[in-house]
Formats: sequence, C-alpha cells, structure tokens
Amino acid sequence: MSCIFCKIVTKEIPAQIIYENENVVAFNDINPAAPLHILIIPKKHIESIDDISPADADISASMFTAAKEIAKNKNLPDYGYRIIINNGKAAGQEVFHLHMHILGGKDNLGPMLQR
Ligand code: AMP
Ligand code: ZN
Repeated sequence: MSCIFCKIVTKEIPAQIIYENENVVAFNDINPAAPLHILIIPKKHIESIDDISPADADISASMFTAAKEIAKNKNLPDYGYRIIINNGKAAGQEVFHLHMHILGGKDNLGPMLQR
C-alpha cells in the first residue's frame, strides 16, 4: 500500500497524532494554513466521499464526533472553526485517502468560497 495516510495510520510514517479512536486518526497538517490545522482521516482506506459506502456510516460519524472532540479540547468553539473536505481533483484533493481539514485558531478563517 503506497498511500501516505495509510502509513500514518500504521505509524510507518511519523505524524503529530493528536487524537485517535477505533475508526479515525487525527494529526497536525504538515503545511498548516491556519494556526491550528488538523487532518482527521478514517483508519480504513477510503479514497473520497464518493467511495463511502452505507457500511461506513459509523466511520463517517466518527469523523464528525472526532472534529467536535478536538475542537473542544483545543477550545476552538470560542472562535469558531472551519471544516473542509476537498473531494476530487477539481476541488484540490491531493491525497486520495479521505480527510477532513479542521482550521482554527484565528478570527477570520477566510471567505466561504474562493472565486
Ligand atoms: P488535500 O489537498 O485536501 O488533499 O490536502 C492534503 C493535505 O495533506 C495538505 O494540507 C498537506 O499539507 C497534508 N499532508 C500531506 N502529507 C502530509 C503528512 N505526511 N503529514 C501531515 N500532513 C500532510
Ligand atoms: Zn490510504
């Protein structure tokens, strides 16, 4: 398996892991776009939203509950935070292992859409 995020799951590649449960791992983005930039990934290799199956419902839910837990632990709700999933090439997805970006730690996290 040559997927870089699968290697973070198996700890073959180091990452600053800040949260882990049976379904997901979360770690600091190597190239942060905000003071706090964390990626949440499923432990299972799912390429994108398009590849989520009904059997993955608990995994999808875990990504959101992990986001909430991390935001709470980092005191993010005071400022608000942004969740981004780039889905597919046109959206700028570079790593084809599903991941949720959490951006936070500053007041202005950017416009809703870059036009
Ligand atoms: P995306 O464009 O949505 O596919 O985002 C991929 C993200 O993964 C980018 O923000 C990268 O900075 C980040 N990234 C790539 N490799 C690593 C790595 N080894 N550890 C942490 N973050 C990474
Ligand atoms: Zn993978």
